[in-house]
Amino acid sequence: MKGSDTIVINKNKIEAVGKFEELQSLIHSNTEIINAQGKTLMSGFNDSHIHIWKVGNLKTFMLDVRGTKSLDEMLSMLEDYSRQYPDVAWVTARGFNEAAWKDGRLPTKDDLDKVIKDKPVYVIRTCAHIAIANTKALELSGITSKTNVPEGGEMQINSNGQPNGIFSETSLGLITKHIPAYTKSELKQMVKTARDEMYSYGITAATDPAVDPLLLEAYYEMNDANELGFRLNAIPIILPDGGENPYPIPSMFSSDFFNVNTVKFFSDGGLSGKTSALKRHYKNSNEQGILRLKKEQYFNLCKAAMTKGLGVATHAIGDAAIEFVIDIYKNLNTSFPNIIKRIEHLGLPEEKQLRDMAANDIAASMQTIFISELGKNFIKYLYEDYLDHCYPVKSVLQHGILNALSSDAPVVKDFNPLKGAQAAVTRKTNEGEIIASNESISIEEALKAYTVSASTISNTPQFGSLQKGMLADFILLDKNPLTVSPEELTSIKVEKTFVDGKCVWKKIN
Ligand SMILES: [Zn+2]
Repeated sequence: MKGSDTIVINKNKIEAVGKFEELQSLIHSNTEIINAQGKTLMSGFNDSHIHIWKVGNLKTFMLDVRGTKSLDEMLSMLEDYSRQYPDVAWVTARGFNEAAWKDGRLPTKDDLDKVIKDKPVYVIRTCAHIAIANTKALELSGITSKTNVPEGGEMQINSNGQPNGIFSETSLGLITKHIPAYTKSELKQMVKTARDEMYSYGITAATDPAVDPLLLEAYYEMNDANELGFRLNAIPIILPDGGENPYPIPSMFSSDFFNVNTVKFFSDGGLSGKTSALKRHYKNSNEQGILRLKKEQYFNLCKAAMTKGLGVATHAIGDAAIEFVIDIYKNLNTSFPNIIKRIEHLGLPEEKQLRDMAANDIAASMQTIFISELGKNFIKYLYEDYLDHCYPVKSVLQHGILNALSSDAPVVKDFNPLKGAQAAVTRKTNEGEIIASNESISIEEALKAYTVSASTISNTPQFGSLQKGMLADFILLDKNPLTVSPEELTSIKVEKTFVDGKCVWKKIN
């Protein structure tokens, strides 16, 4: 609240917000008074689309190859890793971005074979929509040139008529189903590892937008054991990659720390790897991306979920995919007007599609943070007319569409919400180029999208702002984001993070 300097917490809730002098009557003999010494207090951030366990996985069981500058650098990391961990059955890695490499091409099985032959290797591109397997991995997965590729996926074939190791979209399942699954306790370890990094950025609430049945069990167990430590909205996936049969539609669950109220679908791939479904071509290419869903199956599954009261979130980046999803949502809106309908990413919507979204109460969870880290790919792969309205946050807000900002980490390495807010304002890539400057929003709008709007889109209105009666999740910053320049946003440090009224993280000086 403007002009307030004091917040009173009673147990895990905000009891009052106002001026210190006016709140004296609420101070008792056992009240602990913390003097914030002029620091900025704000609501904790809510990342409405972050693959929490995968963030933790890259710090525990999977090699992190984000930020590599060349194919050779990645190959030598793989070689070292496999030597360092001889007991690992499959060498898995994630995060390369060939657009940042000198020769700019995707690796193939031949590249991987050069460094690891005796063990299966599976390397996921930064977008998680493309992956490369070595020859051993292809053998163990029983993949040959005759393998049936699932609809909505691709398996590339080389000049000898053999698979070259590059897979995209639903075809990733051809390999992943042969990689030993993580155990529940490993998954929990990954979530806890990710949580510490989230706290350091002031993130107190998050939505995991792709939860499979085992992870869902792990989350339920963590919630039952009071181990989550942050507000988690879990969005189960319904169609596994490469799988024939949908997972069962989950039940709704709602509590202060854990919520299940939405299910997830993927309608296309990622822009940074040219798999998002476009109406026109990618730059200097005849590719238009991949549409992954079958209309009738998608409609029926959405309907089944909504009948159980669950919302639907669908990944859609390209204009062709966005149109496909809006069509289905529009159809369902008459029967299920009050149920959450989300579009994840919304990278390249057309003007008419934004009007349709507003008219049919369709919300968005967008990632301005992509502009900074993946902007160079957008510039490389998109013609100007697409770049001009890439991640058009301002237009989305002007149409009155509910939009929450998020990171989609580990797609990006740095998932600091203040970095996402900065990119929303400056529209600048890490290399200093500007993308669609007319889509810039204010810092205040960006912060709202990372707090209040994220709570609204997650259907968890009990936190997300500093008001009486709200759950006490807040952070202490060394500077006020509303008064610094956009360039300074990322220099702001989180000093303390509070969840449920308790300090859970402190900056070590
Ligand atoms: Zn995602």
